[in-house]
Amino acid sequence: MTQSWQIGDIKITQINEFAVEVGELDGLIAEATPDAVKAVPWLYPDYANENGQTLWSVHSFVIDTGSSVVLVDPACGNHKDLPLIPAWGGLDTPYLKRLEEAGYAPKQIDYVAITHLHLDHVGWNTVLDGDRWVPTFPNARYTFVQDEFEYHRGLTEGATVTEDLGHAVTYNGADPDIHKQTRLVFEQSIQPCVDAGLVDLVPQNHTICDGVRYTSTPGHTKSHSSLTIESGGQTGFITGDFVHHPIQAAQPTWSSRGDWNRELSSERRVEFMESVADTDVLVFGTHFAGHSVGRIVRDGDAYEFAAV
Ligand SMILES: [Zn+2]
Repeated sequence: MTQSWQIGDIKITQINEFAVEVGELDGLIAEATPDAVKAVPWLYPDYANENGQTLWSVHSFVIDTGSSVVLVDPACGNHKDLPLIPAWGGLDTPYLKRLEEAGYAPKQIDYVAITHLHLDHVGWNTVLDGDRWVPTFPNARYTFVQDEFEYHRGLTEGATVTEDLGHAVTYNGADPDIHKQTRLVFEQSIQPCVDAGLVDLVPQNHTICDGVRYTSTPGHTKSHSSLTIESGGQTGFITGDFVHHPIQAAQPTWSSRGDWNRELSSERRVEFMESVADTDVLVFGTHFAGHSVGRIVRDGDAYEFAAV
């Protein structure tokens, strides 16, 4: 079932790609042990199971302002080579059919916005046409934050990485070579859009269209950006992987093992939770399973994610 929310005059719709298999991301947030997860009762049943395992989703959000349609974080895509997380590669999901059923044909997408250039946020940028990768959204401007784009392009050329992607080696047959994976992401999901002349490299905090802007939230990647949506006095915030899992409301200092800079990620999350706690800001969780949209409410010294 397609779910939508309203921020003033702006409509936001979730497009699901897949639910992450239970156990696949165990250990990604090192502190989130089964006992620690079970100590946060409001995580159950959408965000954790009775064994204390965290639950995750891969999906996108479509922002429809009435005059522009922005697709945020187009997931893993079909038929991609993803040696870093093999289970997410070679997919064949009806994501584009779901997008159409929600009222958005590929040609209607005006902008593609990307919180960061990881494999599960850029996949539907392109589709296979025979044996060639071509842009999925021919009328869209693919707006990438320039610093984020250049950092990842640097990885394709062998730049040093600080991310600890050790969790990936626990996946069946995974190849933890981040340089190789980033090269594949560029070849299959980024470069075809550049070659078609559809890419705009934009500064941090760039306004994409009226009511929709990037908001710098570094930490998960060097220049990770979330999305802020404002209309009619209301505010929405699409997290990207800045808030990776709802448990980070209860424990904002817990970072993901895949974060580029865990201290920075933690600091910015603490600031964020404090700034939105007990306000009307609607938070859209990019990997939140089940009810992915809600508000941050104060819960003693920490916070709770209260789904709407
Ligand atoms: Zn992600």
